Amino acid sequence: MSEVAPTPAPEAAAPKEQPAKVFAGAVYECVRCGTKTTQEELAKLPEVKCICGYRVFKKVRPAVVKQIKAI
Ligand SMILES: [Zn+2]
Repeated sequence: MSEVAPTPAPEAAAPKEQPAKVFAGAVYECVRCGTKTTQEELAKLPEVKCICGYRVFKKVRPAVVKQIKAI
Protein backbone atom coordinates (compact mmCIF):
# COMPACT_ATOMS: atom_id res chain seq x y z
CA MET A 1 0.00 0.00 0.00
CA SER A 2 2.24 2.75 -1.15
CA GLU A 3 -0.48 4.97 -2.47
CA VAL A 4 -1.36 7.31 0.31
CA ALA A 5 -3.32 9.97 -1.50
CA PRO A 6 -4.84 9.95 -4.95
CA THR A 7 -2.66 11.90 -7.31
CA PRO A 8 -4.62 13.80 -9.89
CA ALA A 9 -3.02 13.97 -13.28
CA PRO A 10 -1.37 17.36 -13.49
CA GLU A 11 -2.63 18.32 -16.91
CA ALA A 12 -5.45 15.92 -17.45
CA ALA A 13 -8.11 18.52 -16.96
CA ALA A 14 -6.60 21.13 -19.21
CA PRO A 15 -7.03 20.44 -22.88
CA LYS A 16 -3.69 20.59 -24.59
CA GLU A 17 -5.00 21.28 -28.02
CA GLN A 18 -6.40 24.71 -28.32
CA PRO A 19 -7.45 26.64 -31.35
CA ALA A 20 -4.90 29.02 -32.66
CA LYS A 21 -4.64 31.82 -30.26
CA VAL A 22 -5.90 34.91 -31.88
CA PHE A 23 -6.20 38.39 -30.68
CA ALA A 24 -9.53 40.05 -31.00
CA GLY A 25 -9.25 42.86 -33.42
CA ALA A 26 -6.10 41.62 -35.05
CA VAL A 27 -5.98 42.72 -38.62
CA TYR A 28 -4.44 40.80 -41.43
CA GLU A 29 -3.59 42.09 -44.83
CA CYS A 30 -3.38 40.04 -47.94
CA VAL A 31 0.10 40.41 -49.34
CA ARG A 32 -1.22 40.13 -52.84
CA CYS A 33 -4.10 42.53 -53.10
CA GLY A 34 -3.79 44.34 -49.82
CA THR A 35 -7.28 43.56 -48.66
CA LYS A 36 -7.49 43.91 -44.95
CA THR A 37 -9.48 41.44 -42.96
CA THR A 38 -9.82 40.65 -39.34
CA GLN A 39 -9.03 37.45 -37.60
CA GLU A 40 -12.67 37.18 -36.77
CA GLU A 41 -13.58 37.22 -40.42
CA LEU A 42 -10.93 34.67 -41.23
CA ALA A 43 -12.16 32.44 -38.46
CA LYS A 44 -15.55 32.25 -40.09
CA LEU A 45 -14.10 30.86 -43.25
CA PRO A 46 -13.42 27.16 -43.70
CA GLU A 47 -9.89 28.10 -44.61
CA VAL A 48 -7.75 31.12 -44.37
CA LYS A 49 -8.09 32.61 -47.76
CA CYS A 50 -8.41 36.03 -49.20
CA ILE A 51 -11.22 36.98 -51.52
CA CYS A 52 -8.63 37.05 -54.28
CA GLY A 53 -7.69 33.48 -53.54
CA TYR A 54 -4.33 34.20 -52.03
CA ARG A 55 -3.58 32.61 -48.73
CA VAL A 56 -0.69 34.60 -47.47
CA PHE A 57 -1.46 37.28 -44.98
CA LYS A 58 0.64 39.54 -42.97
CA LYS A 59 -0.39 40.84 -39.66
CA VAL A 60 -0.86 44.50 -39.41
CA ARG A 61 -1.39 46.54 -36.36
CA PRO A 62 -4.97 47.29 -35.56
CA ALA A 63 -5.97 50.89 -35.33
CA VAL A 64 -6.48 50.62 -31.64
CA VAL A 65 -3.52 49.36 -29.74
CA LYS A 66 -3.75 48.51 -26.16
CA GLN A 67 -1.00 49.84 -24.04
CA ILE A 68 0.37 47.32 -21.65
CA LYS A 69 2.49 48.49 -18.82
CA ALA A 70 5.78 46.76 -18.56
CA ILE A 71 6.32 45.16 -15.25
ZN1 LIG B 1 -6.02 39.14 -51.59
